[in-house]
Amino acid sequence: MTRISHGFFCIFLAVLVSACGADEAPAESAETVEATPADTIDLIVRGAHIVTMDDDGTIIADGAIAIDDGVILALGPRDDIEDEYTASVTLAGERRVVMPGLVNGHSHAAMTLLRGVADDLALMDWLQNYIFPAEVEFVDAEFVRIGTELACWEMIRGGTTTFVDMYYYPDTIAEVVESCGMRALISATVIDQRSPDAENAADGIAKGAGFIERWKDRNSRITPIFGPHANYTLNAEQLAATRAAAIEYGVPISIHMSESPFELQYSQDTYGMTSIEMFESIGFLDGPTIAAHVVWPTKEEIPVLVERKVGVIHNPTSNMKIASGISPVTEMLDAGVRMGLGTDGAASNNDLDMWEEMRLAAFLQKVDRMDPTAIPASTILGMATIGGATAIGLGETIGSLEVGKRADLIQVAFEDVHHVPTYDVVSHLVYVSDEQDVASVVVDGKVLMHERKLTSIDTDRVAMEANALAARIQAALKERNRAN
Ligand SMILES: [Zn+2]
Repeated sequence: MTRISHGFFCIFLAVLVSACGADEAPAESAETVEATPADTIDLIVRGAHIVTMDDDGTIIADGAIAIDDGVILALGPRDDIEDEYTASVTLAGERRVVMPGLVNGHSHAAMTLLRGVADDLALMDWLQNYIFPAEVEFVDAEFVRIGTELACWEMIRGGTTTFVDMYYYPDTIAEVVESCGMRALISATVIDQRSPDAENAADGIAKGAGFIERWKDRNSRITPIFGPHANYTLNAEQLAATRAAAIEYGVPISIHMSESPFELQYSQDTYGMTSIEMFESIGFLDGPTIAAHVVWPTKEEIPVLVERKVGVIHNPTSNMKIASGISPVTEMLDAGVRMGLGTDGAASNNDLDMWEEMRLAAFLQKVDRMDPTAIPASTILGMATIGGATAIGLGETIGSLEVGKRADLIQVAFEDVHHVPTYDVVSHLVYVSDEQDVASVVVDGKVLMHERKLTSIDTDRVAMEANALAARIQAALKERNRAN
């Protein structure tokens, strides 16, 4: 209601001013200049609290953020901002906490369509006997389109504004991201086996190069990258070749690294080294690297991660569900490793809820160390925002609410019973808030969800298409089980 009445007021004021000034030279007074339509900015977002996640941990009470052309022009006390700026659209801020959008540093978005297909299995059993065969059989561009739309819907609904994806048919993923308005780093998967979109590693690199040529510099929200799967699904030469291609195209790499005891054993048996040692020994870390999981780094490997500026993405839910282990997050943070959080794919989580990742990341460190002070809420919130943005190479662009950064932010409703009363906003964001509390989502200055209504995705259509496709998958699985 506030939005509508404010917008109407702006239009009314603009008409009035242009009518009054029609026959006169442009007036110089501040009031008139501010009221001309040319000076109306795109968006003002208000908040009862604005949690900026800047270096000083600034929280602004009764604040507002002025946004134009996707950029944060100013933020501060609401009265100051609204004295200076008039916007076409204003998001009301009563009982709303504004914070940077969440950064999901590791996902396989389209796997929303394989959610629940196979649970309660160890990583290699799950991958080799269920996921890889199901993918070869069912995954095509249409599957990826529907699955990624489903994931973007779930992520926007939950306050995620940026994600790093690794899946097949990356052009299709990029088209979905372009249309739904999110920000993403999209990996062309490279794996040394027949996959849904490539015959082998060399084919994957060649197809990945084509994808990167098509998408590099096409849309500022989309960064095409290479996604070599892991050092147990690619050999040393293939990994080195993928890095060489990434360097040639000037793009980062995302990869699974030091995820499971299986990988450690495989590295020892195959390369005679631990996993991260192996990557370092072949020069794989010579360019920007986003390493998912890193559950089993040795004491000697942690400084390598720091020195090589590897962005480590912690996936607590997936690590717990597949029993991969507990990552030494606090040791890595203390050493200065760039760390973010991720959900992993929906088939090993089984959702894309970053609030759950925050809470589990905190609790897992505390119980593992038997120390409730092991990691505070503010550090966890940092990992989900500015820390994650830095880990994926976007720390200068997003991750905190500061003048000059792109406007990727969310409004979290503090009105449900679990927010009554609120003593400490950051504590509530980490230990209380959940997806359903996210009210509005803005990416690059565009409102993708307003008061829980998505603006860029036809959710009815996506649900219908997802259910129809799932019915076909289920029928085929039943048929296969009968044949076996
Ligand atoms: Zn993964």
